[in-house]
Amino acid sequence: MIKTKCKDILRNGQQVVTQSRCDVLCILSKSQHPMSVAELKQTLGKSSPNVVTIYRMLESFLDKGIVRRVPLRSSEALFEFTGFGDHHHISCIECHKIEEVDDCAVSGALKNALKKSNKFASITQHTFELYGVCKECTKKK
Ligand SMILES: [Zn+2]
Ligand SMILES: [Zn+2]
Ligand SMILES: [Zn+2]
Repeated sequence: MIKTKCKDILRNGQQVVTQSRCDVLCILSKSQHPMSVAELKQTLGKSSPNVVTIYRMLESFLDKGIVRRVPLRSSEALFEFTGFGDHHHISCIECHKIEEVDDCAVSGALKNALKKSNKFASITQHTFELYGVCKECTKKK
């Protein structure tokens, strides 16, 4: 079922539908957290295309707005399916575990910023990512 949905998303994004594109998109659309290329490759297993191919695929997904880059400070670029809507992340500075923050935590602040602004008519994009120490890492100390 999800396969058909992935195909539709690819077609709507004017993407050539291939098995590996479908697989990558399916994994991302089911993932509970943003994923790196290395993680994607690992999840794809034996049938995975090489890292360069996955990168190119993600670049074209980015172009069409199917995925977005999550602006968390991390050694690797993290990608996420855009169908999840506006939400944010908390990342552990010790173990880099990521938790999703449901809904937009800053929508009120955005409205205020726009109200105070003299030069802007709308705010179309924002980033807001949080860092902290997770409970497990706190226990270890
Ligand atoms: Zn941690
Ligand atoms: Zn997320
Ligand atoms: Zn938001």
